[in-house]
Amino acid sequence: MRILIVEDEPTINAQLVASLKDESYVVDCATDGRQALFLGLNEPYDAIILDLGLPHMDGISVLKSWRDAAITTPVIILTARDNWNEKVIGIDAGADDYLAKPFRMEELLARLRAIIRRAAGHATPVLSCGTIELHTKTGKVSVDGLTISLTSHEFKVLSYLMHHQQELVSRTVLTEHIYAQDFDRDSNTIEVFIGRLRKKLPPGSIETVRGGGYRLVCPS
Ligand code: CA
Repeated sequence: MRILIVEDEPTINAQLVASLKDESYVVDCATDGRQALFLGLNEPYDAIILDLGLPHMDGISVLKSWRDAAITTPVIILTARDNWNEKVIGIDAGADDYLAKPFRMEELLARLRAIIRRAAGHATPVLSCGTIELHTKTGKVSVDGLTISLTSHEFKVLSYLMHHQQELVSRTVLTEHIYAQDFDRDSNTIEVFIGRLRKKLPPGSIETVRGGGYRLVCPS
């Protein structure tokens, strides 16, 4: 899952990046409104964390511009404490959730998991596909009730597929969601991760679709 963090305060920005990376998210950063607008319009994020007070262009205007451009990526806004008005304006502008500063990282992470799940149409924190279960809170994956161990990249691939189960996911899309913008991307490595995942999942779980895509097949 790839996240855009928009925050101009270096300390908070660095804390957010470190915490999200710890949770296996792939992270891009913007430190002003114009850069945020550009990245949000051009890169496929799974969620965006948006501070409202930003240089060059304020967060509300950035958010409105994304929504006007039909960008539906879930957005959590970071608002100033005790400014209820900002929350109302933010939600009316298209924010999916808000958090007042200063916030606890645990709360932000919980809200982030929730908006990503909901955007993919899952209401509960445990995603399941046949006998495969992914606990979004702990990052644990099990098959038939037994925990399996995955490398960080295998987890990123499986997490994306579990959020988009039964859908055709192209190799390009997978690449875009498991690597950050500045990363040297190689879509051939996806095949390697898929190959390793197949050995750890029940036979037939990941279907290869002609033309370079994959589908996580969930028996009903
Ligand atoms: Ca700020």
